[in-house]
Amino acid sequence: MATKAKANRKPVHRRPPQEDRQLLERMHKSGAFWDPRFPGSHVIELADITKTKLDTIEVKDAVRAFQESDTSLDDFAREVHGRDAVPDGEVGPATRKLATIERCPVPDHAPPDGVDFSGYDPQEIQMLRSYQKRSTAAATGSGSWPASCDWSNGVHHVRVAVNHSTRPGHVSDDDWKEMWGACAAGYAEMGLRMTEVPWADKTDDSEINLWWRRLSGSTIGLAEFNNGTCTDNVFHNLDPGYSQSTHAKSVLMFHEFGHNMNLQHTRGGVMNPSIIPRLEVSWKGDPSERTMRRFFGGEQVDPPGPDPGEVDLEVIIALLTQLLEKIARRRR
Ligand SMILES: [Zn+2]
Repeated sequence: MATKAKANRKPVHRRPPQEDRQLLERMHKSGAFWDPRFPGSHVIELADITKTKLDTIEVKDAVRAFQESDTSLDDFAREVHGRDAVPDGEVGPATRKLATIERCPVPDHAPPDGVDFSGYDPQEIQMLRSYQKRSTAAATGSGSWPASCDWSNGVHHVRVAVNHSTRPGHVSDDDWKEMWGACAAGYAEMGLRMTEVPWADKTDDSEINLWWRRLSGSTIGLAEFNNGTCTDNVFHNLDPGYSQSTHAKSVLMFHEFGHNMNLQHTRGGVMNPSIIPRLEVSWKGDPSERTMRRFFGGEQVDPPGPDPGEVDLEVIIALLTQLLEKIARRRR
């Protein structure tokens, strides 16, 4: 009997309880193990999570990165402890709660080189690869969609093809007009013109392709980063299960467009990993405002308006000017 009791006290490869495994998995998918400040944590891969324990230095660093990434932790800490959160790498009830809420699945840090993507679905892998490449593009180019692509004549401009056949019932035509209008106006303030174009099963007539798709677990939107060239086409997915207010849906779409423009998560603001529905659909006063101004110049451009059929005089003039220049060149 004594021998058996002793053996029970010394398990060899004890698996962490289910709750810890879920927490670690969620932390890993949120990029907490990829914080550049803590390179020691990079070696822990998603596949190793079942044999990882909470009390190692690599995990404590990752817990700290996780705690620092999302301002919702403050709300939970106030509920539980009556004060703001203290990101100390220790797992308490507020941190556990943070690991259960709906959030954007784009990780808070870019995946380090050589990391193994097994355990992710194909579209998540596409997003992770674009995130990795973005770091290279940002170092060499303007950091996002360049100006003067296509017929935009010196203006940063992206065309968004929207697959309305996937749009859920809780987003009516009017809701969509409101969401699109708010997003286009918010980007126009920073110098980026967005035009909605008809959906087609190809990618050469648009820079962003948007459709609704059932996403795994508690993820609500998923979007790919661009490679900083005019020829790129990236995806933007919204979960049809996200049926909050129209304003909250606008904030989510504004956030996912942020990734399409190469923004990373910030603590608080539009790019907070979990969506803060009460926010304005604007970059003004947001933690990402400076980055947006660097990417797109920060000078207001005319928003094209919510109706894609609406004629944009400036665009027509730009088109005609280009055409006349072309004819003039040929005559010479
Ligand atoms: Zn996100």
